[in-house]
Amino acid sequence: MSMTEPVVPVTRFAPSPSGHLHVGGARTALYAWAYAKGRGGRFIIRIEDTDQKRSSDAASVGFLKDLDWLGIRWDEGPTFTSDDGAVVGGGPNGSYFQSERLTIYNRYCEQLIAQGKAYEAWETTEEGDALRKEAMARKEAFRYRFRGEITAEQRAQFVREGRSAVVRFRTPQVAITIHDEVLGEATLPAGEVDDFVIRKKDGFPTYHFAVVVDDELMGVTHVMRAQEHFTNTAKHMVLQDALGFRRPAYGHLSIIKNPDDSKMSKRDKDKVLRKAVKEKALTSPPIGSVTAEEWTRWITDENVQLDLEGAIRLADALKVTLPEINVDDFRRSGYLPETICNFLALNGWSPGGDVEKFDLEFLKARFSLDRVIKTPAKFDRIKLLAFNTDAINAMPREEFVRRCRQHARVFRPEFIERFDSARFELLMNATHERSKTLDEPFRANGFFLVADDALLFSDDKNVRKALGIGTVAADGARSGLEHLRAMRSLLGSATDWTQHALETAANSYAVEHAAGKLGAVAQPLRVAVSGTTVSPPIWDTLVLVGRTSALARIDRCVAWATALA
Ligand code: GLU
Repeated sequence: MSMTEPVVPVTRFAPSPSGHLHVGGARTALYAWAYAKGRGGRFIIRIEDTDQKRSSDAASVGFLKDLDWLGIRWDEGPTFTSDDGAVVGGGPNGSYFQSERLTIYNRYCEQLIAQGKAYEAWETTEEGDALRKEAMARKEAFRYRFRGEITAEQRAQFVREGRSAVVRFRTPQVAITIHDEVLGEATLPAGEVDDFVIRKKDGFPTYHFAVVVDDELMGVTHVMRAQEHFTNTAKHMVLQDALGFRRPAYGHLSIIKNPDDSKMSKRDKDKVLRKAVKEKALTSPPIGSVTAEEWTRWITDENVQLDLEGAIRLADALKVTLPEINVDDFRRSGYLPETICNFLALNGWSPGGDVEKFDLEFLKARFSLDRVIKTPAKFDRIKLLAFNTDAINAMPREEFVRRCRQHARVFRPEFIERFDSARFELLMNATHERSKTLDEPFRANGFFLVADDALLFSDDKNVRKALGIGTVAADGARSGLEHLRAMRSLLGSATDWTQHALETAANSYAVEHAAGKLGAVAQPLRVAVSGTTVSPPIWDTLVLVGRTSALARIDRCVAWATALA
C-alpha cells in the first residue's frame, strides 16, 4: 500500500501505558489523528499493555485524559467520558487493550507454529545467557537461530522440569527493505534479523507480534510512530508476509529535543531542582516538601529521580518552576490545549508559507507526511509561552474566566473555595491582561489564601521604599507608613467597601496629603494586604481581600513597619 493510493486511511496511536504522556507521544497522536481525520478516515487508540511489569491502568486513563484535553478525539478505542460529557471510544474491533486480546494472538501464533513458521524454544535464562556468551567469545553479534526440532519426549521432559517455552519466529534469511514516508528507504541485509520472540514465557505476545496482528485486524493503513521503532519495522514486515497480512504504510517521526540538543526527559526536572538546592546551599529538605528519607536518597545519588508529587512540592518550596515535559505538566502550568497542539504540530512539520498559528481544523486539512522533517525538532519554550500569551490576550474575557475556572477546579481548588463566583470573576478580570498562562492568576496571588496573621511582608528594597523605611521624607511630607496609618483610620470608618468608594476616598486623601499622588497611598496599601509591591489593581485587591481581612492586614503591616522604621 502506498500513501498516494486513494484509500480511506485508518491510523492509530498505540501507547504503552507507563508513566505520563510525553509531548513526543502527544505529537505522534496528533499527526496520526490529523492524517486520518483530514482524509475522511478513522483514528484508533490502542493500549499496548502487554508488558505487565510496566503497564498500569492509572497510566492508561491518564493518557486518555491527556489526549481528550488536547482535543484529540478517537473514533475507536477505549471507552471514555470526555470532560464535556461526550462518550468516545468503543468500536467493532475491541478490545482496545492488548492485555485483553490474548486468545486472538494465540490463534495466530498457533497458526504459525502449525505452518512451521514459528517454533517453541525451551532454553532457560541461564542457557540463553550461555549462548550469548559463546557468541561473544567468537566475537559475533548474538542472533538466535532455529536449533533443530525437538521430539515429543524431549518436550514432555522440559515440561516435567517445570520449564516454559517462548515462541520464536523463524525469520527468513532475506534482505528486507523498509519504505518509509518520512525517512525514505533502508535495506537490512539478509541475516540481520534473528529468530525473535513472538510469545513470551508468561503467554503474552511481544510488542512485535501484537502490533502486527492488531494493525491488520483493526484495518490500520498508515502507521505513524517514533523513530526508535524504525528498524523494528523489518520484523513487522516479515511477520506480515508470513501471516498473509496487508502492509500498512509507515512514517517514523524524529524525537523532540531541548534546544541544547539533550533529550526532553523527566530528568530535566531533577536537574532544575538540584541546581536550586545547590544555589541555596540547602542541606535538608524544606518543610512539607519531601521526606528526609526521599531527600537523602535523592541528594546522594544523581541518578535517583523524585516522583512527580515530591518534585512539585520541592519546586514550590524552592520557588522554582519545573520544566514541563509531559502533557499533564503543561496543563498544570496553565497552557491552553489548542496552543500545545499548534506548537507541537510545528515541532516537526510546517504548513509552509510562513503560517505559524493555526487550529486543529487547519492542521487536519493541511497535514501531510511529505512536510514532516527527518531530524529532531527543538522545543523552544520561549516561543511556546509567547504563543500562549498571544492566545490568552486574544481571548474574550468570559472565555478566560471560564477556562480559569476549569483550571482552578482541577489544580487550584483552594481559589474556588476562597471566592464566590462573582469574586472569582473579579480576580480574573483583574489579572487577564497580565496573564501568560491560565495558572498565573493563581500562582502569583497566593496572598489571598493566607491567613491574615500568617501573611509575610517581604523585606525588600521596593517594600522599604513604598513604606519609607530607611529614608527621610522631604520636609513636611508624610512617609508611606504614615499614609498607611492615616488610610487605616479612613478605611476603618468607610461604610462602602467597593472599588469606587475606596478609590474616591484614597484620591481625596492623596490630594490633601500626598500632593495628589495616588500611587504614594496605593503602594503602601498594596504591601499591607499582599505582602509585596506586586498585586492586581489595588482597589480590586482590597475588595477581594475583604474589609475585615484588609483592616487586620493593615494593622499588622503598620506594626511590622513601625518596628523596622
Ligand atoms: N507501544 C509502542 C510505543 O509506545 C507503539 C509502537 C507503535 O506505534 O507501533 O512505543
